[in-house]
Amino acid sequence: MYLSLVIPVYNEEESLLLLFDAIHDALDSLPKKWEIVLVDDGSSDQSLKVLEELAQKDTEHIRVVSFRRNFGQTAAIAAGIDHTKGEVIVLLDADLQNDPADIPMMLAKLDEGYDVVSGWRVKRKDTFITRTLPSRMANGLISRVTGVELHDYGCTLKAYRREAITGFRLYGEMHRFIPVFAHSVGAKIIEVPVNHHPRRFGEAKYGLERTLKVLLDLFTVKFLLSYSAKPIYLFGGAGMSIIILSAVLLFFLAIRSLFFGISVLASPLFQISAMFFILGFQSILMGLIAELQVRTYHESQRKPTYTVRKTFNLK
Ligand code: UDP
Ligand code: MG
Repeated sequence: MYLSLVIPVYNEEESLLLLFDAIHDALDSLPKKWEIVLVDDGSSDQSLKVLEELAQKDTEHIRVVSFRRNFGQTAAIAAGIDHTKGEVIVLLDADLQNDPADIPMMLAKLDEGYDVVSGWRVKRKDTFITRTLPSRMANGLISRVTGVELHDYGCTLKAYRREAITGFRLYGEMHRFIPVFAHSVGAKIIEVPVNHHPRRFGEAKYGLERTLKVLLDLFTVKFLLSYSAKPIYLFGGAGMSIIILSAVLLFFLAIRSLFFGISVLASPLFQISAMFFILGFQSILMGLIAELQVRTYHESQRKPTYTVRKTFNLK
């Protein structure tokens, strides 16, 4: 199997047949074997029925996973990926906003030696104030914080080599950070402009509140990327900084008391200094606990702390 498409589906009954046709138009000329893994994310409309009929009609290409309830787009994507067989995995939305006609071009890019081809909706067809604008700001922020410069993290249409996308788990709303995780294991990433269409059927499932979740996820991602192997650097660094602050305060109080005769207890600074000291100490201890957890994580799963691309003369 060369190519697996992974498509999360939540209440998209009107789109599915058209999507299926569009995928066939795009991929029928492909000389290699491909499959579509559709994940029904607990739809309450007729989506599952449509998928079942499609699966019966086209046993060669269609696989369907149906969730017991709605678990969210990220979970649907993760389940889809778990059931793929392809060397290459392409993610796209079910709502016809992404265009399957872009896929051959993205596959060609992979063949040039990239591990991730990231779709960029240059002409995005969503409402500006609630979708496009917040997304643009979020993309800028994610690029800055993670150091992976992409214009469109939110675009689902992206192509991945299997090695670049398996090997980590997705939580919360984290499917948009897959390129960041891929980058962290050494994947080569390129961005390509892709088509984008306005939603024709059904409703968009998200609003402005998603931006907030994305921001919170970004904290986690940044922490995992920079400190998951060395959490003491973060906790210990913060702890030591606060302890230094505490010492500076104490020094100031001592000087003031010695040379100007002002009592150490004349202001709340002494208590604040003591509080900083305790906080700093606690933070360092938390860092040590986190270090223990890192060891449990890597050693219980025999997960190495590095990733290898190739080896020579080694079996
Ligand atoms: N989706 C899903 N589970 C959800 C919400 C959405 O599987 O809880 C699917 C949805 O059917 C679509 C894709 O995720 O295929 C993107 O959803 P939507 O078009 O609403 O998001 P947007 O395009 O606005 O990012
Ligand atoms: Mg959409």
